Formats: sequence, structure tokens, C-alpha cells
Amino acid sequence: TKSLRIGLIPADGIGREVIPAARRVLEALGSDLPKLEFHDLLAGFDLFTRTGTALPSETIHVLKEECDAALFGAVSSPSRKVAGYSSPIVALRKELDLYANIRPVVAVSPNPEGKPSVDLVVVRENTECLYVKQETMTQTDSGREARATRLITERASRRIGRMAFELALARPRKKVTIIHKSNVLSVTDGLFRETVRAVPTLPEISGRFDSVTIAEQIVDSAVYRLFREPEIYDVMVAPNLYGDILSDAAAALVGSLGLVPSVNAGDSFVMGEPVHGSAPDIEGQRIANPLAAIRSAALMLRHLKYEDAANRIDTAVDHVIRDGRVLTPDLGGKSKTDEVVEAVLRRL
Ligand code: NAD
Ligand code: MN
Repeated sequence: TKSLRIGLIPADGIGREVIPAARRVLEALGSDLPKLEFHDLLAGFDLFTRTGTALPSETIHVLKEECDAALFGAVSSPSRKVAGYSSPIVALRKELDLYANIRPVVAVSPNPEGKPSVDLVVVRENTECLYVKQETMTQTDSGREARATRLITERASRRIGRMAFELALARPRKKVTIIHKSNVLSVTDGLFRETVRAVPTLPEISGRFDSVTIAEQIVDSAVYRLFREPEIYDVMVAPNLYGDILSDAAAALVGSLGLVPSVNAGDSFVMGEPVHGSAPDIEGQRIANPLAAIRSAALMLRHLKYEDAANRIDTAVDHVIRDGRVLTPDLGGKSKTDEVVEAVLRRL
């Protein structure tokens, strides 16, 4: 039988603590999955400081030629400009054309049959917006002037819109909310809004999304309403930067960034990645919450159509959260990363 080949890219900080945790859970799934083959791959800021390269071509090559999917940890991108450095995760998303970042944010309800108070998914465009990183600095008479290019294309907006409608179609509430700021940015966000809105009317769609409700919301008021009445949201589709901010904000509603998973998805590859960063404030203390990474592995499996294996992981994780006895400090617990992993393994 065919094996399932997974590239592991822990990268920096707690990425190196949570990716091995996710691997342990994957290895415990046994016969629900084909034989697993892991490839340990390098990337990150630490690697850059040691070798001058943040994303070796070998990593990209192995991902493209020898892997069916991947799991990425987190990178420590410094806030100051470092000559020659550019974030490997942003580069990887572009290199593998992983144009959608899908971030489900779900609260675990206290009883297993209960309805979650928050159950939404942020669908973030992953290749353009301000993340094209075309920034320039000029010296003027009155001081320095910095400019950035914000790119929005019809092609990228259409495919992310299509992804959002597909996801909504598979969910009970079937609602897509387009997030934008086209009252101010009428050209760029105007194009995004208009293109996503038009997805259901495309000839090749031929009525497929007729059952999906379309709503829209200006990004600032979307954040406000997200905090006051999160239940109004189902699928939120947004340009890159708004999607990034919205999903961190939504993570606060469910208790911790350490719980929120994502996948970077394209038409032919998928890479799981916890939404959080490298968390330098807790790095090395063995208290990083591994559940976002573990849920990212489940999301990756679901994307590859291993539904049963994905469900087993999600059920085990929900149980550990609901039980509440073995949790890391970000969730008010006293347990270490490894203890949480072991609690998940016991429930698998
Ligand atoms: P962060 O997400 O790393 O941390 C924010 C806060 O949440 C911190 O207090 C951290 O301790 C906590 N936290 C995050 N994940 C946690 C987990 N699994 N368990 C327990 N607590 C957790 O964001 P930051 O501190 O703003 O950024 C740190 C670095 O990470 C920066 O260099 C930034 O560039 C990078 N970053 C990378 C990614 C990525 O790789 N995709 C995403 C965001 C930030
Ligand atoms: Mn982020």
C-alpha cells in the first residue's frame, strides 16, 4: 500500500515543541492511516542566523517532490529589518501556491452534545495584499517616507471566494461574510468584495452555491461584532492582513491562541500550521500548548480525506479540553506540553 509522506518543519521557538507533539499523535493513529513517512525539514530565523538561509532550497524541493502534505511550526520573524532575511512561511505559501489559509475557531462546549458558542472559520487569502512585501523608503525634505504596495487581483480573490463558498456549502449554516474596507479602499478592497460576491454567479458554478447566504461587513465593525455576537459568523472570507488579525482576535474568544489550528491549502498541496507564532516568552519551558498543532494535523488529514483519523484526533482533543484536568498554563492549567500530549493519546 501507498505511504503518506509528511514534511515536518518545526522552524523556531515553540514550533520545535509542538510539531513533535503533533507527530506523536499522528503516529498513534495506526491503521486509520497508511504507513507514515516523515521528512524532517529545516527553515526559520535561527537557521538564518546560523547559515544565512531562512528557507533552504532542499526544503522546498523535498516538499514538492517527496511529500504529500506538511506540518509547519512557527517562525520568529524579528520586527526590525534584518538584511537578507525574509519570512520563510510567507515564502513557502507562495512557493507551493497555498492560496488559502483556513482557520476554524470553535469553542468546546461544556457538554459533548452542546452547541459551541463560537463556531466559525476564517478563510484568509494567503498570497497577496500587503504580504507582497513591496516596501520602499525615500528621503524627503520633511523626513523619511515609507510606502507599501497592496496587491489585490481578481484571480486570487475569485479562488479564495470559491474556497469560502465550498466550505460554507459543507457547513450547516451555509453563510459567507465578506470582510473588507471598501468604504475607504474602494479600488483594492472594492475589487475583493465585488469579485467574491460574484463567485456564485460564475457560469461554471451553475447554481452550486444557491443555498449559501452572502453577507458582508467592514473589517473594523466585524471585529466589534465578533466580540459581541460571534454566533452571527459562519465562514468569514478576508484579504490577507484582515484575515490574519481577525483569526488572532477570534482565538481570544475560545481561550487561547494555543488552541487554534489552520491549514494552508492550494489545489495540490496542504500544510497544517498552528495560528500562533514562536512564542519567545515561553520558549524552552515545555509549557507550550500543543493542541493547536495537534488540531492542525487533524485539519491536514481532513483535507486529505482521512476523515476518520481526523475525527479521532478532534474528539480526543475536545475531551481533554472539556475534562480540564490536564491543560497548559495558557488555559489556566499546570501541565506540561508532554502531559497534554499523553492525555490526548490516552483518549484516541
Ligand atoms: P505569538 O503567537 O508567538 O504569541 C502571542 C502570545 O500567545 C504569547 O504570550 C505566547 O506565549 C502565547 N502563545 C502563543 N502560542 C501559544 C501556545 N501554543 N501555548 C501557549 N501560549 C501560546 O505572537 P508574538 O509573540 O507576537 O510573536 C512571536 C514571534 O512569532 C514573532 O517573531 C512573530 O513574527 C512570529 N510569528 C510567527 C507566525 C508564524 O510562524 N506563522 C505567526 C505569528 C507570529
Ligand atoms: Mn498571525
